[in-house]
Amino acid sequence: MTRLLILGGTGDAANLATEATKLSDLEIIYSLAGRTRQPKVPGCTIRIGGFGGTAGLISYLKEAKIDFVVDATHPFADVMATHAAKACRKVGIPRIKFCRMAWSPDAITWKSVQTYEEAAQQLCSLGKRVFLSIGTKKLISFARLADKWFLIRAIEDPALPVPLVNYDVLLQRGPFDLAHERTLLVSYQIDVLVSKNSGGTQAAKLQAAHDLNIPILIIEQPTPPTGELVYSTAEATDRLKLYMQSKLNIPTT
Ligand code: NAP
Repeated sequence: MTRLLILGGTGDAANLATEATKLSDLEIIYSLAGRTRQPKVPGCTIRIGGFGGTAGLISYLKEAKIDFVVDATHPFADVMATHAAKACRKVGIPRIKFCRMAWSPDAITWKSVQTYEEAAQQLCSLGKRVFLSIGTKKLISFARLADKWFLIRAIEDPALPVPLVNYDVLLQRGPFDLAHERTLLVSYQIDVLVSKNSGGTQAAKLQAAHDLNIPILIIEQPTPPTGELVYSTAEATDRLKLYMQSKLNIPTT
């Protein structure tokens, strides 16, 4: 029996977990940070909460006798990704990182920045009413922009006080279509959009902003830790099957 740990919290992770339950001789443990509601992933054991840094994860991997790790956390969950890479290396078990292809500008143009701080810097010379579509964890980077008004969209109420002067929090769960995003930008009189490059299907907010001639600032994905990268459920399950075959000494053709 192979014991698989999926580091989740994304649709990709839940889809992979569902697909992996079709494989035999596989026990799946699906791990969540516990920030939002649990996904339904029948056939998996769900564990919730942090491991306690790299050291905690090392202990967990050993105690739970994990054979293989798929890090399918969000592209911006770079702390977890780094811990997973270090811990798996230390314990000597394989790990793959499930990545999402970043959006690339084609018909829609935007200004790319590498960090939240750089986005805040660039915002100084842009509009006054900002759709700050970055979640709620990194708002502190924008705290000094007291002359701006921010629209924050979140699934759940922010855990910590919002460190901004002028803002509104809108609680909504996506996905959002073009008409919805256009209405939102118009009704809140947004004149600049800031978004993370979350990747995957291009978000409708980008097209809506482009159509309304609203400038877009995109924070690019952090570089994933060194190691094997996969970009689809099929690639991830193929890699997992290969591992399971090699464990059983079944020749691969
Ligand atoms: P992060 O900054 O990389 O991680 C912070 C800490 O949260 C980690 O050190 C770890 O705690 C814990 N953690 C994160 N993912 C975990 C998982 N799957 N299972 C158990 N513990 C986990 O992560 P984040 O950006 O806060 O994201 C938290 C979760 O939300 C992730 O699972 C991610 O996939 C999901 N998510 C994130 C975003 C985003 O934009 N960042 C968007 C959508 C969904 P310990 O150090 O104690 O182990």
